[in-house]
Amino acid sequence: MYFGCHLSAGKGSTAMVNTALSIGANTFAFFTRNPRGSKAKQEDSQDAAKAVHLLEEHNFGKLVAHGAYTMNLCTADPEARAFAADVLEDDLRRMTALPGNFYNFHPGSHVGQGLEAGIDYIAQALKQALRHSYPVTVLLETMAGKGSEIGGRFEEIRMILDAVGSEHVGVCLDTCHVYDGGYDIVGDLDGVLAEFDRVIGLNRLKALHVNDSKNPFASHKDRHACLGEGSLGLETFRAIVNHPVLRDKPMILETPNELPGYQKEIALLRQMQS
Ligand code: FE
Ligand code: FE
Ligand code: ZN
Repeated sequence: MYFGCHLSAGKGSTAMVNTALSIGANTFAFFTRNPRGSKAKQEDSQDAAKAVHLLEEHNFGKLVAHGAYTMNLCTADPEARAFAADVLEDDLRRMTALPGNFYNFHPGSHVGQGLEAGIDYIAQALKQALRHSYPVTVLLETMAGKGSEIGGRFEEIRMILDAVGSEHVGVCLDTCHVYDGGYDIVGDLDGVLAEFDRVIGLNRLKALHVNDSKNPFASHKDRHACLGEGSLGLETFRAIVNHPVLRDKPMILETPNELPGYQKEIALLRQMQS
């Protein structure tokens, strides 16, 4: 099984792999550029090649890169929207240095333009970025449905997938987000996965973000908590790591932790496996 967490990309890819190894992780996530800005770091192909070698040597699962939070593909201003689409395209190109992994991002917020217009913009940007066929699978993250955020309902994810029409787009399920979004993975995990299968298709589910939630069911808030310290609770995570549909997916912690906290949670998840 593949467990990991968000790591800082500041010191390069090899440093991330070594940090992951030091905390018992065999996958990880990282921001392709400053999470709140849009500046990308310089590319270093030697460092990337070394990282690729280490990942293979230590049998890592697929990595789950994360697009910048500021990248809103369906923002209202046409210039900002075009810029976001270019950022996405450049991010996918950059993933060529670590081929065969995942790139996950938040679909976007339609900021009053309406769901359909928003989905149309997201799909256009994805089509533009995917036309190069870079060696990466793009993942849409399930969201909590805060404000005009798109992706809080499985139906919205389905609409994006349909509009893009590419097999190279999958889904990353965030446990905090879906629970905040009104999918009861605490009381009925199997029912939620059945609904995911009916609307999206479980073949599209590629990775998980494993977070507890500071808020109650269907709050549409999106505040992550450490495992067992929120409304999801440890038994939910035990069910997730042992679920036949989920257990082989990369599971990424985005809990409010520094490295020692992540190390503990990774050990906890491993220990929960039966
Ligand atoms: Fe995210
Ligand atoms: Fe997430
Ligand atoms: Zn979140």
